Amino acid sequence: MVHKKTIHARKLRKTLIKAFYGKCWFCGSIEHLEFFHIIPTELNGRGRGFLKRMYDIAKNPTCYGLACKDCHYLYDNGILEDNDINV
Ligand SMILES: [Zn+2]
Repeated sequence: MVHKKTIHARKLRKTLIKAFYGKCWFCGSIEHLEFFHIIPTELNGRGRGFLKRMYDIAKNPTCYGLACKDCHYLYDNGILEDNDINV
């Protein structure tokens, strides 16, 4: 059985993705979307818990962007920059 909290987190993620234009901000892809930090928040790094992350995004929407897996990697490595954002 899926935990209630997990269902809640997934619903929240869906809502947030919609609010973030539903596509990668760099290439426009709609697959493998991930949120990335534009401005660091208190919740940096990975593995802080999925629900906590979703709450942090909802609380600080201007600190995050949406990117596909590939663009997220390129952004984290400084190959894509803020001015490559296309939304
Ligand atoms: Zn992309």
